[in-house]
Amino acid sequence: MPRQTNPHQHDIGYVTSRTNTLTGGFCILYDGEKANLDGRWTILCSKHETFVAFSNKKTATSMLKTPGDWCQACESLVEMEEAEYILTLRTKRTNDEQLKRLATLAVGDPEKSLLFERLTGQQPEHYLSEQ
Ligand SMILES: [Zn+2]
Repeated sequence: MPRQTNPHQHDIGYVTSRTNTLTGGFCILYDGEKANLDGRWTILCSKHETFVAFSNKKTATSMLKTPGDWCQACESLVEMEEAEYILTLRTKRTNDEQLKRLATLAVGDPEKSLLFERLTGQQPEHYLSEQ
């Protein structure tokens, strides 16, 4: 499969990147020495222009997956998703199709599973198996 075109891949000091699923942009790792940035290994949220530096390349690389942990604007996007999730369940404006979708989202996510169980009285796995 061809890689998605990344407008940053020719930047000086570019090392690697991942799609930022919250914004549709990219989380990018730069070699701070080559890119003339403050930190040794610096990650960037392309959408919000948040830079965070790490001394350890492995740590910096692993953080590319979770922009909600280091980009404040992304964190609020995560919170909005969570809020929407809670609201959808609380208002009961949900039909079976929506509940099924939410249960599917919650499987494998301990926080969402707990939330789903608290609000529906059923574990998402259990809910899905009854469908
Ligand atoms: Zn961000």
